Amino acid sequence: MRSIEDDVRASRLRALPQYLFEALAETRRRKEADGIEVIDLSIGDPDIGAPPAALDALKTHADDRRLHRYTPHFAVETFNQAAAEWMKDRFGVKLDPALEIVPLLGTKEGIAHLPLAVLDTGQVALVPDPAYPVYARGVLLAGGEVHLMPLREDSAFLADTGMIGEVRPRLVYVNYPNNPTSAVADSAFYAGLVAAARESGTLVANDAAYSEIAFGDYRSPSVLEVPGGTDVAVEFHSFSKTFSMAGWRLGFAAGNRRIIGALRVLKSNMDSGAFGPILMAGVAVLKSGWDRHREILREYEVRRNLLLEGLGACGIDYHRSPATLYIWAKVPGGRSSMDFAESLLDEAGILVAPGIGFGEKGEGYFRMSVTCPTDEVRRAAERMREVSGDWKN
Ligand SMILES: *Cc1c(COP(=O)(O)O)cnc(C)c1O
Repeated sequence: MRSIEDDVRASRLRALPQYLFEALAETRRRKEADGIEVIDLSIGDPDIGAPPAALDALKTHADDRRLHRYTPHFAVETFNQAAAEWMKDRFGVKLDPALEIVPLLGTKEGIAHLPLAVLDTGQVALVPDPAYPVYARGVLLAGGEVHLMPLREDSAFLADTGMIGEVRPRLVYVNYPNNPTSAVADSAFYAGLVAAARESGTLVANDAAYSEIAFGDYRSPSVLEVPGGTDVAVEFHSFSKTFSMAGWRLGFAAGNRRIIGALRVLKSNMDSGAFGPILMAGVAVLKSGWDRHREILREYEVRRNLLLEGLGACGIDYHRSPATLYIWAKVPGGRSSMDFAESLLDEAGILVAPGIGFGEKGEGYFRMSVTCPTDEVRRAAERMREVSGDWKN
């Protein structure tokens, strides 16, 4: 029997894979203690700030005392209505706001909770590798089994939907535009995914956190717009990246009403909803149009081009993509991604995310993010060029 001096963590928590970024955090502390500026390109955390429409709505609604109580029904109703209209305008997908949308306290919350709502103990979920770590961790915390689905460069990092027929999982996670690889999927991919899922009785979760972070003419499709999409799929939409509102903790799930219903019941046992004025700020930005959004995208594109030019000058290869906040690049010289990230930090004061942190199939790559002020990005690109002579072997 365990005594109270033992590790208090439940076995389900102890069983989670360890985080790999501790060694990098240590090197970073050492550099900063030596007075060296570290430019952090390792995480996707928008630095630009929420749109004025969100701030105005938050200030106005903060004075409404009805919204100081447990989230009133009218606020949820208004939010769901705005989200459904946005899905209609953006993807042409018609959804019932009462049954096919549920607000989330950030999409991470919904993604992590989904398996608790739809997966029985021991049931299998297909999870991409490399991937946002929350898919696998949510499945493991729910007592499900993770079956990895490799994303390979020679298939442009698209999941092999043939695996659905082979594995016959209860649930499959996909994420396009993709973190960390920056890959995008077209409607033909979603059509194949939905057909395979219907055939195998599999539920589909598409994480669309980056659907609006797109450059040039690129428009990311929705899994819900292909035939049969709403029969098997839900899609997660986040305010964090789209509207630079990561700290506000707001998102929504949209799609199949059985899955949305299950998630809503689960959530009714765990949280009591978002703060009303934050929901109303969400409504305001969903209705506000896209001018400010285009400005933000132009800024990201400037940064992206600086980094891509820097990589090009260093002879480093990367995945070409019209979307996301990320550049997925190849580690030069056959080194491990961790080793490369360590030396880039040590030699150039640049922090990147080693590919191994996103799964075994991420080995050999590293990820850079454009959510860092433009002058820092410019300095990072310059420093990379200065030290790159040492990488060629
Ligand atoms: C940032 C991110 C999210 C969004 O998380 P929020 O909880 O909405 O802030 C979801 N999925 C992926 C892949 C992400 O990178």
